[in-house]
Amino acid sequence: MDKNWHPQFSFSRKNTITTLSAPIYIKFYPTFRCTNNCIFCFIGERFTQGNQYTEMDKEDIDRFINILVKLKIFRFSILGGEPFLYPHLDYLLFKLHKNNIYITIATNGTMLDTKIINLVKKFNVNLGVSLHSHISQIHNELVRPNRNAWQKINEFIDYLTKINCSFRVATVVCEKNKDQIEDFIKFIVSKGAKLLELIYPLPTGNMRKNKNLGISLKEYLNLFKKTEKIAAKHNLKIHPDCHYSFFLPNKTFTFNNPLAKILYGCSIGKTKLDILPNGDIYPCSFFIHEKKWLIGNILKDDVKVLWEKSPILNKFRNRTVSLKCGKCKFSEICQGGCPGARYLEFGNIECKNKNSIPDPNCKDFCKEKL
Ligand code: SF4
Ligand code: SF4
Repeated sequence: MDKNWHPQFSFSRKNTITTLSAPIYIKFYPTFRCTNNCIFCFIGERFTQGNQYTEMDKEDIDRFINILVKLKIFRFSILGGEPFLYPHLDYLLFKLHKNNIYITIATNGTMLDTKIINLVKKFNVNLGVSLHSHISQIHNELVRPNRNAWQKINEFIDYLTKINCSFRVATVVCEKNKDQIEDFIKFIVSKGAKLLELIYPLPTGNMRKNKNLGISLKEYLNLFKKTEKIAAKHNLKIHPDCHYSFFLPNKTFTFNNPLAKILYGCSIGKTKLDILPNGDIYPCSFFIHEKKWLIGNILKDDVKVLWEKSPILNKFRNRTVSLKCGKCKFSEICQGGCPGARYLEFGNIECKNKNSIPDPNCKDFCKEKL
């Protein structure tokens, strides 16, 4: 193994760690094909192009994993599309497990493939199942067009519980399901869930066409606090999935942490890369809809060179954030908001006018002078 490939820290003048010599975390979309077409899916139009994407074969997976091993990647998230539609998912899991890489999978639970689920259990994969309501009509309306989606995901969860395979329920909160959270919790606990991940809907992909369904960041944070109390009564753990989770009490963010620049804030150019079915590399799912954000291809390019020299990644690393962030007490943790949300709202990732709103999600908080 080439020693130079080991992730190393570089230090800024203030002796805080600002970047790693290689990414440590990969988000991989093995397919964009899906059995659903969720109202809030961040893939959006890529979904309809799903069949046009070349997906990796076993040989590609071998090369892909060899590259990751060389980079010393230790976390690998499998998303989609629906990953259970990918014909080589078992092979991918074998290879990742063999190389001691921590795996997470997000599934919509419509494909009860017992062979894959048994591997998930055996390899201790962190499995997230996307259930959005205990009311079949609401869940099915949100994940359209699959009318049997709710029934299928219930069969899927029942099987997980039957074989004692741990899982988390991943729920996107929106206007349609936010008012029934107590009954929802009772339902998932009765199904054997131990962990609920409450996801803030990202204003990208399909959600851009369904903005009326979204909730504000303030609403999300208040709902999370309420849900946390209800969940505690039922011994259900709950995690936020939101860039702004530092606004929540009891979250483990430490100010003056020398690793803050790496661990907190947007992960682009610091810890992770997003890889599409054909190996194309993008900074984040917010940017996969435009070719101009294509960084390179994991199977064709030297990823180490891309990581160090990509003008796209350097643009993120060196972006100018709002002056408002400089005065904000959370700046060390947040580091200027989500550049993806900013790009979709304002058309750029940088605050050229230094007084502008850093990120549309933060606008209410900016008024309160954090
Ligand atoms: S652009 Fe936003 S969603 Fe993407 S990694 Fe950065 S903070 Fe997270
Ligand atoms: S003002 Fe800036 S640093 Fe503070 S929360 Fe908003 S985006 Fe984040």
